[in-house]
Amino acid sequence: MVDRKQSWILDFTNGDFLIIAGPCSAESRQQVIETADELKISGQVSVFRAGLWKPRTRPGSFEGVGVTGFDWLRDVKEKTGLHIAVEAASPVHVEECLKNEVDIIWIGARTTSNPFSVQELAKSLSGTDIPVLVKNPLHPDLSLWIGAIERFENAGLKRIGAVHRGFFPYSHGNLRNLPRWDLLIEIKRLLPELPVISDPSHIAGNTRHIHAVAQKAIDLEVQGLMVEVHAHPTDALSDSKQQFSPVEFRKFLAGLHFRRTISEEQEFLDQLQEYRSKIDMLDHQILEFLQERMKINRDIGELKCRSQITILQMKRWEEILQTRTEWASKLGFSEEFTLKLLQVVHEEAIRVQSEIMNRCRED
Ligand code: PEP
Ligand code: MN
Repeated sequence: MVDRKQSWILDFTNGDFLIIAGPCSAESRQQVIETADELKISGQVSVFRAGLWKPRTRPGSFEGVGVTGFDWLRDVKEKTGLHIAVEAASPVHVEECLKNEVDIIWIGARTTSNPFSVQELAKSLSGTDIPVLVKNPLHPDLSLWIGAIERFENAGLKRIGAVHRGFFPYSHGNLRNLPRWDLLIEIKRLLPELPVISDPSHIAGNTRHIHAVAQKAIDLEVQGLMVEVHAHPTDALSDSKQQFSPVEFRKFLAGLHFRRTISEEQEFLDQLQEYRSKIDMLDHQILEFLQERMKINRDIGELKCRSQITILQMKRWEEILQTRTEWASKLGFSEEFTLKLLQVVHEEAIRVQSEIMNRCRED
């Protein structure tokens, strides 16, 4: 178990949860100071974020004010006492951030996707002890995310954190980026000492959905949030739809629930134990059913092999998909869940039959 009290991020928090907030981009002295003043009022924000160099997908949109913004951020620090976080994507950015006493550097999703860039950044940060927050890469490759973290560790940095900001969505839903909660859970499992925070603004892409995303992240025990807030979101030069106004932000904070990670109450523990025993039994039965199904799969493989028939039978697969999603829907399961489950089982069945086919070809 991680002792949360040991985590470096506690040096940057008010309480035991880190809240980083601020505009997507620093745009003007007035915008930066007005936003920071408002955030200070919330009492819960301890780090002010503002992008100075913006990684835009197409050229021609607002690409940030660059080094000009440091002067404004220094004013914020002096006036509000908030720590300052800025994105760095090149050694030149790192050098400027260090020179201008930025407190936390974050690595953007596009940068994490490129090991050459990460390596150069790690080299330029080596010998410093500035905290670095590493956003997940654009595509759901956990190794790439962990690889970036390792490059900073290898450069001698001790205060590293991960930021879950979602992954490129290959199909369109309500959210701008897919959260892939499984990967958030997996990185926490693999690197239990690493503080992980969530950026619900970039996952949601729209202020309407930020609360639900943030609450889910909190329920999965992230140690902080990075949220985009702009004094006048409709005038924002980047990510306008996903930036809260200060009033919206305060309402958002007030609506978050922080639940205890465990209870010591005996009644709760007994009831939980009872439910868990039932789940253990059911999981065991599910595995036994799958084993039985897989045995029949093998028999089918042998049969196909003897008759020299291909493994994939598209008509049958379509029939399985259709009937099972109908059955599952009547049982209250979502189509997404059922499809995922069927795909995993089908993939394994095909793997098993391929083995049989290979053997049978050799015989
Ligand atoms: C940002 O934080 O404004 C940003 C560009 O984020 P990301 O790298 O997650 O897209
Ligand atoms: Mn942004």
